[in-house]
Amino acid sequence: MFNTSHIELSKSAYRNNIRYLRKIIGKETKLSSVIKGNAYGHGIENIIPMAEDVGIDHFAVFSANEAFEALKVKSESSGLMIMGLLDHEEIEWAIKNDIEFFVFDPVKFEKAVENARSLKKKARIHLEVETGFHRTGFEYKQIPGLIDFMKKNVDHFVFEGLCTHFAGAESISNYVRIKNQIRMFHKFNRYFQRHNLIPIRRHTASSAATLTYPQTIMDMVRIGIAQYGFWPSPETHMYRFRKNPSESNHLRRLISWKTRVMAVKKVEPGKFIGYGTSYLANKKMKIAVIPVGYANGFSRSLSNTGRVLIRGRRVPVIGIVTMNTMTVNVSDLPHVEKGDEVVLIGKQRRLSISISSFCEMSDQLNYQLLARLPANIPRYIV
Ligand SMILES: *Cc1c(COP(=O)(O)O)cnc(C)c1O
Repeated sequence: MFNTSHIELSKSAYRNNIRYLRKIIGKETKLSSVIKGNAYGHGIENIIPMAEDVGIDHFAVFSANEAFEALKVKSESSGLMIMGLLDHEEIEWAIKNDIEFFVFDPVKFEKAVENARSLKKKARIHLEVETGFHRTGFEYKQIPGLIDFMKKNVDHFVFEGLCTHFAGAESISNYVRIKNQIRMFHKFNRYFQRHNLIPIRRHTASSAATLTYPQTIMDMVRIGIAQYGFWPSPETHMYRFRKNPSESNHLRRLISWKTRVMAVKKVEPGKFIGYGTSYLANKKMKIAVIPVGYANGFSRSLSNTGRVLIRGRRVPVIGIVTMNTMTVNVSDLPHVEKGDEVVLIGKQRRLSISISSFCEMSDQLNYQLLARLPANIPRYIV
């Protein structure tokens, strides 16, 4: 009621994915569940309890507003880490709430220490170092100054982590760049060790690195896309499979996205369907109107190319995807009627529509499509 589509999340698929990932990372390594982008469209408030149920006790977000959402649902014992934006005025709030955060420039570190001193509570920091991604992180030449600063202020922070992020571990074309980044990270690590500044955890790997560069696994991994059942890229899947032929595809998708037929209509030959002239009926046709459009996360670039499932059959989107509706061609399905289930992502009888299949068509990545699923579509755990 009061919604035009809904999302179902499979808890057994989630459990399966975490079991598979744990087998890869081993018992000693912590798995931080990355839940930025509203948990890749799955909903922070759905994923956190599900994750805690299967033993996850650490979460990673991009910014303070996401941390704020996570704080409402996570249990007290679970760790929470901000990897990106934390404004200076939000630092006090983060320290008070035991939120760990990445520090990647000297000013942020100074502000953290200042706040920690006045709060009489240590800031829990992860030092991000620049190894070749060239986005954020301390440069190698900044380290001597940083070490002096750390030695002077040891009482005001906990050195939770030393970390970096790789520039595209999901593609073999970045192999040399990633290898150099790994080498560089170890160089940073040795430097801190020589000065007896030992992080609690070293962490570098996202899903792709975890699945393809085992040496990047270290003390903690930051797993986003793989926990939701998606491979970071087709290449990652092929590579993993070739190296480990005994593993079949162990990742299962959690998400299904469903709606219902809103109306059906006959169209005479020679008539255009929908806005403009992008689709001309060249014979008598039957079309179904679906109450989901680009305002609901179904990309406009799927106009005339997307596919959905109705009555166990794959049917094409015809015409332009509008803000709130699209039309599909059901000429071969004479029994389709108002109220029939429509699967936009997921399974129906023997067929399935995977996001990646229509991502390839619409030239979008899984990441983007998931993250664009509007937060107001109701989500149910099944
Ligand atoms: C998003 C992100 C991850 C997780 O990446 P996936 O490819 O989804 O596993 C890990 N680390 C950082 C810093 C990130 O921003």
